[in-house]
Amino acid sequence: MILTLEVEVTDFLTENTYFYIDDKTQHGFLIDPGAKAEKILQIIEEKNFTVEKILITHGHIDHIGAVNEIQNALKIPAFMHENGKIYAENPVKNLSPFIIEENYKLNDVNFVSDGEIIFLEKNPNFKLKLISSPGHTTDGAIFYDEKNNLAFVGDTIFKMGRGRTDFPGGDEKTLIETIKTKIFTLPDETVLFSGHGEPTTVKAEKKFFVE
Ligand SMILES: [Zn+2]
Repeated sequence: MILTLEVEVTDFLTENTYFYIDDKTQHGFLIDPGAKAEKILQIIEEKNFTVEKILITHGHIDHIGAVNEIQNALKIPAFMHENGKIYAENPVKNLSPFIIEENYKLNDVNFVSDGEIIFLEKNPNFKLKLISSPGHTTDGAIFYDEKNNLAFVGDTIFKMGRGRTDFPGGDEKTLIETIKTKIFTLPDETVLFSGHGEPTTVKAEKKFFVE
């Protein structure tokens, strides 16, 4: 089950936080809790979910802003691509002073390499593969579920659009390469859940894509 919660980061900026929950066990992953920790915790309690792990598609504040608070409350680990260290530790790189007017750092995050599989402890058949996807940032990660034909793609690609490359670590050429080699090589019917806006598919974005 995927539950999408659109959280308000500022008056002008919203972000998609995803609960990716195994229907059999009600255990699951929380992806990109960008803001509104209290609201997220309330949903977890109301729905009786057991969130085992927090997964981060990249270290921008609008994707990590609620991580520390949720970790404090639930005592669960968080995971991001190994290039995320600079974003985790440096507020200027994660944009927090510019977006939430606060210097935010991640307190406790685990760094994962390209291709590693992140398993649900309660049901190891429920898993996501981290695929490195640089371009929007250097630490971009896609979390891919091959069995269920879906991927959480952060700000790499959107419905009829792609990520900005004008922030620290961004690079247009790298982003285009990532989209072509990491996203468009997934099966056409793969559903893509982006950091902002509505879901799309590989097939739809291939049609729309212009270099
Ligand atoms: Zn971003």
